[in-house]
Amino acid sequence: MARKALSVTAWIFAIAAVGLGAAHAVIADGFYSVPAISCLVIAVFGVITGIAAHKAPLPVTVITVLTASTLFAARIFEDKGSTHHSLTAESLFLASQLLLVLGLVFIIRQRLTGQAGNVLADGLIVGIGAWLIVWVYLVQPSLGITGNSASFTTIRSMTLAVSMIVLFLLVTLLFSETVPSPANAFLGVAIALTLAEVILRAVVSRGDVSFSLATLDAPLLIAVALAGAGFAHPTIRHVSASGSHTVMPALMTRLLTTTSSLVAPIIILAIDKPANNQDTTVRTITVCILTAVVMSRVVQSVRLNANTQEQLVRSALTDSLTGLPNRVLMLQHIETAMRSSWKTHLQPTVLFIDVDRFKNINDSLGHSVGDDVLTEVSRRLTSAVPSHATVARIAGDEFVVLDATTQTVTQSVLLAEEVLDSLRSPINTRDGDMFVTASIGVAYAPTAVELSANELMRHADTAMYRAKNAGRNCIALFDDSMLESVTKRLDVETALYRALERNELHLVHQPIVDIDLGIVVGFEALMRWDRGQSQVVSPDEFIPIAEETGIIVPLGSWAINDALTQLRSWIDAEHCSPSTTMSVNVSVRQLHDPQFVTVVSEALASSGIPAEQLWLEVTESVMITEPTQALASLHRLNALGVRIAIDDFGTGYSSLSLLQRFPIQCIKIDRAFVNDVVTEPATQNIVRTIVAMATAMGADIVAEGVENIEQLDQLTSLECHRAQGYLFSRPVHVDDVPRVVKFIEDPTHWREITGRN
Ligand code: C2E
Ligand code: MG
Ligand code: MG
Repeated sequence: MARKALSVTAWIFAIAAVGLGAAHAVIADGFYSVPAISCLVIAVFGVITGIAAHKAPLPVTVITVLTASTLFAARIFEDKGSTHHSLTAESLFLASQLLLVLGLVFIIRQRLTGQAGNVLADGLIVGIGAWLIVWVYLVQPSLGITGNSASFTTIRSMTLAVSMIVLFLLVTLLFSETVPSPANAFLGVAIALTLAEVILRAVVSRGDVSFSLATLDAPLLIAVALAGAGFAHPTIRHVSASGSHTVMPALMTRLLTTTSSLVAPIIILAIDKPANNQDTTVRTITVCILTAVVMSRVVQSVRLNANTQEQLVRSALTDSLTGLPNRVLMLQHIETAMRSSWKTHLQPTVLFIDVDRFKNINDSLGHSVGDDVLTEVSRRLTSAVPSHATVARIAGDEFVVLDATTQTVTQSVLLAEEVLDSLRSPINTRDGDMFVTASIGVAYAPTAVELSANELMRHADTAMYRAKNAGRNCIALFDDSMLESVTKRLDVETALYRALERNELHLVHQPIVDIDLGIVVGFEALMRWDRGQSQVVSPDEFIPIAEETGIIVPLGSWAINDALTQLRSWIDAEHCSPSTTMSVNVSVRQLHDPQFVTVVSEALASSGIPAEQLWLEVTESVMITEPTQALASLHRLNALGVRIAIDDFGTGYSSLSLLQRFPIQCIKIDRAFVNDVVTEPATQNIVRTIVAMATAMGADIVAEGVENIEQLDQLTSLECHRAQGYLFSRPVHVDDVPRVVKFIEDPTHWREITGRN
């Protein structure tokens, strides 16, 4: 609030300063007048406010006060009229200019960091240009004026020369201006006005223009009061602060000012002939200095431009962390290598190296440790490969090595092995030692086949993925079959994104049968993707992709909704008993979705199916990968009343201890066991054990993939009472479900199917 009030006061002072100065010019007939005294009061008041309220920087304050006092003293001496006094007055004017130089140099030194060179050069050009004009029109003519003593003339020329330095410094500051502030502006205008004062005085003393003394004093008074206004403004505090907020000076203004300070002297020199030898000498020296400054400025400018350009090119082509070439530059290298190997027996090798599980390092240990690892990996790679090979970092944890001199596949693979070896010893990071491995894809440019650099790099990338899938920390060599599978996969991936909205997905249902009672007790919903033109994609093909890309989340939600709605309509139409269950397969990925439990409970609510009739089938992998998160979702689902079944049981690697922690109400014995249960006594033992375990856990048992009566009988003797499989029915379209249920439950057919009564 006080700050605001003071800033308003400062502006009032500034406006008053101009008004008072003008008033003085009009009404006063000497130096002393009411407006003049008021200006002085404003100045004193402003400076006191500045010191007391804003902690104005001491050097700036001292210089301002001294300059203003010197100027006033000069004016008072001048008023006395005698030759002696006017000499003192002139010396005081000189002193005031010297003080200003001191103050401005102080501020400039604080402010200009980094761009000092060219800003100073620009300021110098303006200063010298102005000096030339001042020399031609003020100093040189006044030299001849009779009545002025030699020492007076010398002091005056010095004053003018120094005031040109002030101008130069002021312009320099203007060019280096940070965000403009009122205090800066007021003080700047005040200095400009004192300059005007000095110049005006020199003009008047030439004798060809005349002003009243009061008019001559106006700039001085305004300047002093404006300085007061500057001090009264809160921004005075930062007047000498170096610009952390530096904005580039308006380039156009700077260019215009410097060019006009160059052009003006040239025009003057062309139209105004030198008066005498001394004039010629001063002009020549000034022009020589000006030329030298301009030349150095041009050189500076060109060098700066070249540097910037080089820096830009370098940063566009190299990686900032490791200093290695980036993707763009690497592609250029590969291109060159391939072009020069064309029609030779060289087969340039490209290695695509991906650091295994780098994301884990980054996520768990932080990015700075990640950076350490990457830097060390880049160092190891560089020292592992021959000196003529190129190493690049093309993305986060992906590196590419190019060896243009390999001739055989063996050499390519050896190179990759060397790289893999180089990573074996532990890496030293700020968080201690750690082991990293990498997966490496190897591709080489075959002779006589034309490939682009991009294609070769992609081949290596594809091979790298193969290495990852093969279990990481290994090498895979590219071959054409990889390309096919990649293209196919990419095709599936893109189409899968649209499958849901295009209604290309549907569910088929396979009955789950109670063997003892001969009735259908539930269904398993299985997803099918109809891509048109009777191209039906099997879930084994698209579910893994949907899981990897995350599309499984919306697909899975849709499946639960659709399956429950369907079951509702069958129960309502009395195609099946009201207690029939619906089993839906669920991926781990879905359990990690925070919305999943809500989706399930909404599906139950909207279909009106009791939660106990929904079975969610999860595979054992749920227990192995991030069990805590999945466990939480399963517990919440269980709390809703939903039941959980372990699908394909026996094929995963879950341990008994894990099994015990999971809320499981049913175990589905995998088809692989059912397949062998008749012929393999070992399998019979396994099934017996699974059944015993399930019974101990209080869980149901369902046998999957029952295809013949022998299997059924064996399972029955092993105390397994529920089954699903081709023996009863394949998964069928929804429209066929009522017919299939009727068929299975019909005693005649049941006898046919099972050989039992
Ligand atoms: P699953 O859950 O174990 O499903 C049983 C698979 O065995 C089904 O294959 C089914 O058609 C097949 N099958 C059933 N009875 C027999 C039989 O007697 N003999 C033989 N040879 N096979 C039989 P399908 O439909 O191809 O599904 C494969 C897998 O895809 C499923 O295995 C399941 O893990 C997954 N899946 C299917 N639908 C979905 C879904 O909506 N969501 C999720 N996340 N996964 C699904
Ligand atoms: Mg299943
Ligand atoms: Mg299964």
